[in-house]
Amino acid sequence: MKLETRNPKLETLEMQIAQVVPCTEAEGPGKRFAVWFQGCPLRCPGCCNPEFLPFKGGQTKTIDEMATWMERTRDEQGIEGITLLGGEPFAHARASVALAQAAKELGLSVMVFSGYMLEGLRAKPEPEVAELIHLTDMLVDGPYDRDNPDNERRWIGSTNQRIHFLTERYRFDEQWRKKNTLEIRVIGREISVNGFPAKDAVGLWKGWARKKPLPVSPPVPNHDSRGADAK
Ligand code: SF4
Repeated sequence: MKLETRNPKLETLEMQIAQVVPCTEAEGPGKRFAVWFQGCPLRCPGCCNPEFLPFKGGQTKTIDEMATWMERTRDEQGIEGITLLGGEPFAHARASVALAQAAKELGLSVMVFSGYMLEGLRAKPEPEVAELIHLTDMLVDGPYDRDNPDNERRWIGSTNQRIHFLTERYRFDEQWRKKNTLEIRVIGREISVNGFPAKDAVGLWKGWARKKPLPVSPPVPNHDSRGADAK
């Protein structure tokens, strides 16, 4: 995909990715291309993705690879947007901006989950942080609080976290009031889980020995891959 990004330097930008779920309904409205960055400076007790906290690890991808994958998924599976989550997207702000710009060029919406509060992000001096806020349609902000899980707002981890509709593209409607969504994928002998489980399903998959990120590459034909909606 040839990007028309405003900053040509972003076209060759590399990023450290922990996991991609190219078509999910468990990370925001509609079908979405979800990207987990590798690395988060925060340490919320009970973080669902402790393996994504170190800044070392994951896989290095270029924006061109990611944009091409997003475009193909849009055309083949009808995704309506991308979701960036943690690791912390604002700790990878330049990469997040590049992905968000590519998404907008493809007509896709942008949702971001951040452990930082919007006010704190707006106070940061880095221009790429302001640029990412500018490109974001929906921001869910605030650290995850395991003592106060949110069972009323779909896709939201804990009750302290806020949803900011930063553009006119989305609003709080009935789909946000449905029960939490958990997706379980089986690829060969490996299991991957994403989304937020209902309260009585927390830990359901923990006994399964193999929980690991999905491959950070487009799916290979004939893989046994399926998602299970455990609402
Ligand atoms: S911000 Fe997200 S990824 Fe980072 S520690 Fe908190 S819950 Fe985990």
